[in-house]
Amino acid sequence: VTFESLGVCEELVEACNRLKYVKPTAIQRESLVYTLKQRDIIALAETGSGKTLAFALPVIQSLLDAPQPFYALVLSPTRELCMQIAEHFEALGVGISLKTTVIVGGLDPMAQAIALSKKPHIIIGTPGRILYHMQNTKGFNFKQLKFLVLDEADKLLNMDFEKDINQILDIIPKKRNTFLFSATMTNKVHKLQRASLKDPVKIEV
Ligand code: AMP
Repeated sequence: VTFESLGVCEELVEACNRLKYVKPTAIQRESLVYTLKQRDIIALAETGSGKTLAFALPVIQSLLDAPQPFYALVLSPTRELCMQIAEHFEALGVGISLKTTVIVGGLDPMAQAIALSKKPHIIIGTPGRILYHMQNTKGFNFKQLKFLVLDEADKLLNMDFEKDINQILDIIPKKRNTFLFSATMTNKVHKLQRASLKDPVKIEV
């Protein structure tokens, strides 16, 4: 199995090879056939499994067709995780002028508002600060949002982000693709799955 045979486009296969991603990992093998065809997924996968690439590739591949600002929102529990995710998107997006921004708590909200005014394609952040900007920053809207990624959902929920996530779900378009990743399946994750996913494919690696 190769990225190509799973349906990844030539441009992104080249980007993967440049980054030395030659052989898809299990989570990538199991999920890409669905995520590249606009199916929602819930995936039980640990950090280190290659899950970031598993959600970044279908988002970027879809965006290549018709790039629009505020195309995808990735929610992740910590600043460090958000930064790592951004690095993946940026590395894959070299050469296609992909604009990514990280919006996390603890950093200057003014600088974040300025970054958002530049209309990035990919917004990666922690739920509290993302919600703050949705409510307070003019010009930041998700009317065009095509993808929502809930990364490390069990951790997001353990960190008390449940209320913020539910408010975000109320604001963003219902017609979208959603990918939920979690290391463990808990009652709270199950509840979030019901609130956010449509007819998801369940993937365990
Ligand atoms: P993640 O689980 O997304 O945090 O990824 C763990 C690590 O695996 C990261 O350092 C990635 O750069 C790397 N990685 C992801 N996919 C592949 C792949 N197909 N081949 C080799 N390394 C990969």
